[in-house]
Amino acid sequence: MEPIPATADDCCVKVAVHIRPLIGDENLQGCKDCVTVVPGKPQLQLGAHSFTFDHVYGSTGSPSSAMFEECVSPLVDGLFQGYNATVLAYGQTGSGKTYTMGTGFKDGCQTGLIPQAMNALFNKIESLQNQVEFQLHVSFIEILKEEVRDLLDNKPELTNGQNGKVNIPGKPPIQIRETSNGVITLAGTTDCSVKTLKEMTECLEHGSLSRATGSTNMNNQSSRSHAIFTITLEQVSKPNSNDSMCDEYLCAKLHLVDLAGSERAKRTGSDGMRFKEGVHINRGLLALGNVISALGDEKKRKEGAHVPYRDSKLTRLLQDSLGGNSRTVMIACVSPADINAEETLNTLKYANRARNIQNKPVVNR
Ligand code: ADP
Ligand code: MG
Repeated sequence: MEPIPATADDCCVKVAVHIRPLIGDENLQGCKDCVTVVPGKPQLQLGAHSFTFDHVYGSTGSPSSAMFEECVSPLVDGLFQGYNATVLAYGQTGSGKTYTMGTGFKDGCQTGLIPQAMNALFNKIESLQNQVEFQLHVSFIEILKEEVRDLLDNKPELTNGQNGKVNIPGKPPIQIRETSNGVITLAGTTDCSVKTLKEMTECLEHGSLSRATGSTNMNNQSSRSHAIFTITLEQVSKPNSNDSMCDEYLCAKLHLVDLAGSERAKRTGSDGMRFKEGVHINRGLLALGNVISALGDEKKRKEGAHVPYRDSKLTRLLQDSLGGNSRTVMIACVSPADINAEETLNTLKYANRARNIQNKPVVNR
C-alpha cells in the first residue's frame, strides 16, 4: 500500500492551548481565574482579548485522552506513513509544559503526551508486526546556554541485558549536521536501540531525571533549558506481505520538545514582532520567536524574508519542524491565574502567530 499523501490540513502548524488548574501558591494567594473558555468552541478569552486556536483544553487536570487523540495520535499514525512530526510545549515556567509532555517523573505524572504516544506507537507496531519489521531508536538531549547535553549518557543497560547504545565509544563532541539533501542530524549523542515499551520508558525516565538533577539549582536549570526526546521509527516490509503499510523502507522521526520557560523572551520593538536580547535571555527561544515571526507573517513570507534558523541550536535542530517537511503541533501551556495574565497573553499571542506557519510534509524513504 502506498503511503497516504499529506493533505493541505497536515501542512498547517496546529496550535492547542492547555490551561492548567490554579495550583498551590496561586490558591494560597487567592488568585482569580482570568482565562475563560468559550463553551463548545476552540476559543478563549483573556480580558478584552479573544483568541481562536485549533483546540483549547480547560483546567481538567492531566492531559486527557481527547488531547492525545486530537493533537498527537495523528502524528504517531503519520510516522508509519513515513512523515516526520514534532510536538512543542511552549509557555512560561510553571505553566505545565513538563506535566503536559509527561517527562516530570518526579511528580509521578505518567499520563502526559509522551507516555501516551509511546503506548500508541507500540500498539500499532504490535498490530503490524506480521507485515513489517520495525527498528526503534531514541535519543534525549537538552540544550542549555547553547550547549547540547546528552541526557542518555551514562544510561545503564536496558532491562533486556543488552546495552542499547550504538554510538561510538570515546565520546566525540555533539554536532548538528545537515546532509546534502537538507536533513538535519545530531552526531555524537547516545542513540538507544529499543525493542519494548518498557525500554523506551526507561530511556525517558533516565533522561528526565538526569535533566532535573544535572544542576545544583534544578528549577532554574530545567526552566532555562530545552529538552528534546526523539523517537526514530524505521520500517522494512517483510517479504510476501501484500498488505504492508510501507512499500519498502520508510524512516520517520518524532521530536517531543519541552521548551525553556517563555518568560525569558521579552518582547520589544515598536511592532512587537521582533524579539530582542534582555536579561537572562534564552537564545533558542529568541530565535524560535524570530523564525515563527518570519514564517507566520504572510507578507514577509511572500517577500522571501530570511528565516533565521541558524541563530540558535534549537531552531537549527527544529528546522524541519517549522516551515519544513514535518507535521507540527504546538501546545501552548498557560496558567489561569490573574497574576500571570501578562505572560499568558504573551504566550497566546506567540502561539496564535505560529498557526500561520505552513509546512510541506513529505514521505521519508
Ligand atoms: P513547567 O514545566 O511549564 O515549568 P510544570 O509542568 O512543572 O510546569 O508544572 C508546574 C506545576 O503545576 C507542577 O507542580 C505541576 O504538577 C502542576 N501542574 C501543571 N499542569 C497541571 C495540570 N494540568 N493539573 C494539575 N497540576 C498541574
Ligand atoms: Mg518544566
